[in-house]
Amino acid sequence: MFKYFIPTKVVFGQGSLDKLHRQKLPGKKALIVITAGKSMRGQGYLARVEEQLDKAGVDHIVFDKIQPNPLLEHVTEAAELSKNEGVDFILGLGGGSSIDSAKAIAVMAANEGNLWDYVGGATGKNQPIPNAPLPVVAITTTAGTGTEADPWAVITKTDTKEKLGIGWDSTYPVLSIVDPLIMLSVPPKLTAYQGFDALFHSTEGYIAKIANPISELYSIDAITRVGRSLAEAVDDGSNVEAREDVALANTIAGFIQSISSCISEHAIEHALSAYHHELPHGAGLIIISHAYYETLINKGAVPEKFVNMAKALGKENATKPEDFLTVLLDLQKACGVDDLKLTDYGFTEDELPGIAKNAHTVMGHMFPLDPVEIDEEATLALLKKSFK
Ligand SMILES: [Zn+2]
Repeated sequence: MFKYFIPTKVVFGQGSLDKLHRQKLPGKKALIVITAGKSMRGQGYLARVEEQLDKAGVDHIVFDKIQPNPLLEHVTEAAELSKNEGVDFILGLGGGSSIDSAKAIAVMAANEGNLWDYVGGATGKNQPIPNAPLPVVAITTTAGTGTEADPWAVITKTDTKEKLGIGWDSTYPVLSIVDPLIMLSVPPKLTAYQGFDALFHSTEGYIAKIANPISELYSIDAITRVGRSLAEAVDDGSNVEAREDVALANTIAGFIQSISSCISEHAIEHALSAYHHELPHGAGLIIISHAYYETLINKGAVPEKFVNMAKALGKENATKPEDFLTVLLDLQKACGVDDLKLTDYGFTEDELPGIAKNAHTVMGHMFPLDPVEIDEEATLALLKKSFK
């Protein structure tokens, strides 16, 4: 049994941002959510979106405090602003952090209390959401999280060190614009981190226990696109074809997240980023990936699927699961991200037991989806293997 429900209208392709005003927008006043960084203004993307909304006769205000790992306090603040200003939809502009925040803000702009009253997992109270969230429009400027094509958001509550994935059927964006032309300015390192995030959404979704025939098709397609185009997009950011291929892989990976799921690789990475916020999500995934997949392979997990993934990623003559580790490392070398270190981000080895425990507590619901059991001991062992 599986469920297929992806209600988002996706407008994909070069120049699609300039068509925003022709889309049916879900309200008359938008809160545009962007990060505290300079790029949305500096690159002119904010101005272009405002111009599109003006053309469509939609009012807008801006909230610009979102951090790379979005924090609960900013969600709360932006929701208050939305209520006070009479905003009737939320527009996330940027990477995963802006769009994830837009979804969480949409929930709280229509409801009382605190977001943690409604989230499940960790210290969340898991109460039903009384009122439907405001509609969300997503305009992604990166090819990383796939959040434009799924209902999920990752929000961090700092006092309890919880970096938690949340989402409901009501938090799918109603409209997403994916325009590779506004991804050309993403620097090489970030392009690589985000591309690997999209890759791991696809690989994890492929081997998850809840994978289904449709998500498996999507996974193989997305893995193929990353394998053939990511290194080119990193090497030459102005290569539009490579950018477009990776952007499509990323959106497809969002669909995969909607109908399959990430597994414990993401749970473990969330724990790492919860301890040291400066660690980019994609970098954290890359750092643990080799030891993580090696652990799965050594435990005998889904050998045929690992061969299929190795072939899709570019090793066409793959015959054994370990070939996936080889081609994964080759791609990391080709993208210049094979030597990332946890110590560069302030980690110490004595933090690892706490991180392993955090992964199983805060994101414990992901571990049962693994194709073989990864307990806390195995988690700690693979973290130690990844540590340098
Ligand atoms: Zn991710």
